Amino acid sequence: MSAVADNARLRIAVQKSGRLAEVSQDLLARCGLRFRQSRDKLFCYGEGLAVDLLLVRDDDIPGLITQGVCDLGIVGRNVLAEHAANHASQAVVELLALDASRCRLAIAVPQEMPCESPQCLAGKRIASSYPGLLAAWLAEQGVVASIVVLSGSVEIAPRLGSADVICDLVSSGATLVANHLREAFTVLRSEAVVVGPAQAPPDERGILRDLLLRRIDGVVRVRESRLVMLHACREQLARINALLPNAQIPTVTEVAGDNGRVALQAICAGPVTWQHLEDLQRAGASQLLVLPLEKLLA
Ligand code: ATP
Ligand code: ZN
Repeated sequence: MSAVADNARLRIAVQKSGRLAEVSQDLLARCGLRFRQSRDKLFCYGEGLAVDLLLVRDDDIPGLITQGVCDLGIVGRNVLAEHAANHASQAVVELLALDASRCRLAIAVPQEMPCESPQCLAGKRIASSYPGLLAAWLAEQGVVASIVVLSGSVEIAPRLGSADVICDLVSSGATLVANHLREAFTVLRSEAVVVGPAQAPPDERGILRDLLLRRIDGVVRVRESRLVMLHACREQLARINALLPNAQIPTVTEVAGDNGRVALQAICAGPVTWQHLEDLQRAGASQLLVLPLEKLLA
């Protein structure tokens, strides 16, 4: 077991603890990856597939990839975009969006402060942990303001008097409300993403990277997908197909001993509700079954 780089082993950097830690570990486990060391250690050796894990602070992940210490990483798009803004670099790119840990980088102002357009921010002090993204957004809006860089507890800056407004990550908005702030503008929409160098390494790691990205893509697609199975008359199929929500091309087979009726199965990429089933039944479908999917390799 070694932490020295090995061209035959793929190395993935994930957050050690925090909002993305469980999301990342869970995703990799669903991809069939197993690791030998306990999760609280910095380095985990992959069993089975030659894929190892490095547990670090999320902010360090784009840099570790740029330096070639890691081949892939899982971060919020906000972290990747801030790194790109500060390093004027496209060395690390978004390879896959994970449809998880959604949030937005937003400008929030004190509840009583009128602010209808970004021009209201001119001359204000804006507290943020995202100075690169904030500076780029302000320049885009043609607004000159000063940026107060804070590494945490940004939301209390206006109350402490160290800033007038803030630019911070928001998901439910509850933290803003608790601090008498309201969301005014969105700077960036974010979710967890897989990042890596634009070019895959030209050795075994490249093959492992492709394999893993295909598995991750399958896990993400399967999460919300359902397999719908039903029976119907052949003549009703066109109508039934149209009622299936976000369905891929269905498979149709004969039903033994039932003249004219066929069995249909289709993968629906999204929720299938009771209402959908009742609509399908009214259109002539019977024997309706909705099943969760476990694995999908497209
Ligand atoms: P680290 O110790 O690794 O630096 P951190 O404190 O910077 O951790 P977390 O608070 O764990 O990071 O957030 C990790 C990521 O989770 C964020 O970069 C963002 O992409 C996502 N996220 C989702 N919702 C929120 C939210 N409401 N506030 C902050 N981050 C959120
Ligand atoms: Zn961080």
